Amino acid sequence: MNPNFLQTPIAYLKGVGPNRAETLQSELGILVYQDLLNLFPNRYIDKTQYYKVNQLQKSSADVQVIGKIVHIKTVEQKRGKRLVAKFIDDTGEMELVWFRGQKWIRDNLQLNMPYVIFGKCNWFNGVFSMPHPEMELLKDHEQGLRIAMQPIYPSTEKLINKGITNRVISKLLQQLFEEIKGNFLETLSDGIRNDLKLVSRLEAFLNIHFPKNQEALAKAQFRLKFEELFYLQMQLIAKNMLHKQRIKGFNFDQVGEHFNDFYSNKIPFELTNAQKRVLKEIRSDLGSNAQMNRLLQGDVGSGKTIVAVMTMLLAIDNGYQACLIAPTEILANQHFNGISELLEGTGVTSKLLTGSVKKSERKPIHEQLENGELHILIGTHAVLEDKVKFKNLGLGIIDEQHRFGVAQRSKIWHKNEIPPHILVMTATPIPRTLAMSLYGDLDISVIDELPPGRKPIKTVHRYDTNRLKVFQFIRDEIKKGRQVYIVYPLIQESEALDYKDLMDGYESIARDFPVPEFQISIVHGQMKPADKDYEMERFVKGETQIMVATTVIEVGVNVPNASVMIIESAERFGLSQLHQLRGRVGRGADQSFCILMTSHKLSTEAKTRLETMVRTNDGFEIAEVDLKLRGPGDIMGTQQSGMLNLKIADIVKDNAILKTARYYASLLLRSDPRLENPENLTIRHTYAQLVKYKNIWNYIS
Ligand code: ADP
Ligand code: MG
Repeated sequence: MNPNFLQTPIAYLKGVGPNRAETLQSELGILVYQDLLNLFPNRYIDKTQYYKVNQLQKSSADVQVIGKIVHIKTVEQKRGKRLVAKFIDDTGEMELVWFRGQKWIRDNLQLNMPYVIFGKCNWFNGVFSMPHPEMELLKDHEQGLRIAMQPIYPSTEKLINKGITNRVISKLLQQLFEEIKGNFLETLSDGIRNDLKLVSRLEAFLNIHFPKNQEALAKAQFRLKFEELFYLQMQLIAKNMLHKQRIKGFNFDQVGEHFNDFYSNKIPFELTNAQKRVLKEIRSDLGSNAQMNRLLQGDVGSGKTIVAVMTMLLAIDNGYQACLIAPTEILANQHFNGISELLEGTGVTSKLLTGSVKKSERKPIHEQLENGELHILIGTHAVLEDKVKFKNLGLGIIDEQHRFGVAQRSKIWHKNEIPPHILVMTATPIPRTLAMSLYGDLDISVIDELPPGRKPIKTVHRYDTNRLKVFQFIRDEIKKGRQVYIVYPLIQESEALDYKDLMDGYESIARDFPVPEFQISIVHGQMKPADKDYEMERFVKGETQIMVATTVIEVGVNVPNASVMIIESAERFGLSQLHQLRGRVGRGADQSFCILMTSHKLSTEAKTRLETMVRTNDGFEIAEVDLKLRGPGDIMGTQQSGMLNLKIADIVKDNAILKTARYYASLLLRSDPRLENPENLTIRHTYAQLVKYKNIWNYIS
């Protein structure tokens, strides 16, 4: 077959023509033959079964019956006429009913001829009736390309109005297969096909559109899903490899004084195995001559900060500067305080730059950055401003990636002629395979182990009606010397309302926990940064026992003595947010608790979220549930990734296939990066076609 055959405009297919072509294009995006092949059914109706009339059930499932029409009549009713036919087989009788198109039916239906009818069956007034059945003469049914499992294609009102019904689409596909005459080009290598026992491409497409049975359909789906994900992964991995070849990075080949001194003398604990492994991965990037672009995933409290610090020391040992940016001032402050403490007496200099740093203080920071006196700059977005210039920035670290976009990453890139190494840290775990696809151009490290000695946080769900008991519990914990967070939702659209909730809550808490016995801090989005910091500081120092806050404390804040997290209106939070909030406790030696407060009115989805939180502390497991509940579309960053344009595979349900595809793609590209091996010719050719005809493979971004 001419390889361009499938690029033939759809109007040329027999049965299409210019009018239908236009509708197919506007409604389904079908421009060429290939697009029609790639119009995958949403679902299938199993027509492998034929029912007898006496087997019909009072449910309204789709059924297929063989029989004949013996009588047909028009019935007048108040709301118009309907056409009723008496349909019989050797076991009984039923009615077929039409409200629309009655004349056509009357003129075309043949009495006493065996038909196969198909449709939803209702039990009405003591008889079974089927409105608007699909009908086909038994002899045609037996001759036609038998569609035992009927595919149901995506449809729109306009398609139906223009007569392009499901059946017409099947017919067009039938025509297409006739024109192709079985000459399907294979797109995968024999090696992969044999390994995975994949059916041929022809067999796959035939059984997607005209499945013989469930098993053939399953094999066809597997083959096509694999193929789609395989080429997506090929694209992502190739991009990553190309990036490494093209983008030279600073070579940090020294492990010097600062790193070694810190590791042997200053580090306050033994690194976990996961932390060691991740550091090794980072060091190998830094010494590879290519720019590092690495995503570090680790659950809340898994100890990403120390990894960041040690990576910065490597930069400094090699004569470069480093910066670390965080999404909020509170978090930047906390990083700055923690890191300065860790680096005390090491001779490494660090400064803080946030929006609220005074102009007069900025000047010396700018100067020291430009003359190289300052080693480390920690801050918020302020660090990314153009006026902030480094002498030689060798490393940029971004904490909590989900708050930043790709744009921020690229800003750091451009702080130097040779882009600095980049480490992105996120505590919102996303399932690994999804991460690999979303951040295809990033390498991924995972800290999958918590520091030793942590007690798992106990999580419970309580209704508002139990508030008194919850308050008593808080009192008991405070008596033991613990501190407590009480968090209120803050959702942008209803900020005023949320603020009122927070203030009402605060007042009632202040009543129940009166001064001087209890001291309360409050932090919310409408406060000045300086006031926030002041309140936060009081809590960090232990001067206050209760912190009432909106979600500004969500990320990063570290107060080990705080052991109770109360989340108000917990049903209004998303899973990853709940998990983040819970991560604020469980940082010390004491048993910690998370109490999810809700009203009695809960949606099914909210219930699932709460149950998940109560069941597990594992961020990756929570991420999986979150992904299932919300779908990939809502997960930050998926929009740009092209993952939503998948035609047949489903990123959530086909996770296992995705893993397999990723494995084969990376194996292939590692052994034969230019696809020069004759065995891989098919793949090379297909890949080139994909890039050429982007319109049909729009998942290639
Ligand atoms: P996150 O990954 O959420 O940013 P942090 O880096 O803030 O976590 O670490 C959480 C807490 O665990 C900090 O108090 C930190 O000092 C401590 N920590 C980190 N690594 C270890 C370790 N290997 N052993 C003991 N404590 C550790
Ligand atoms: Mg952190």
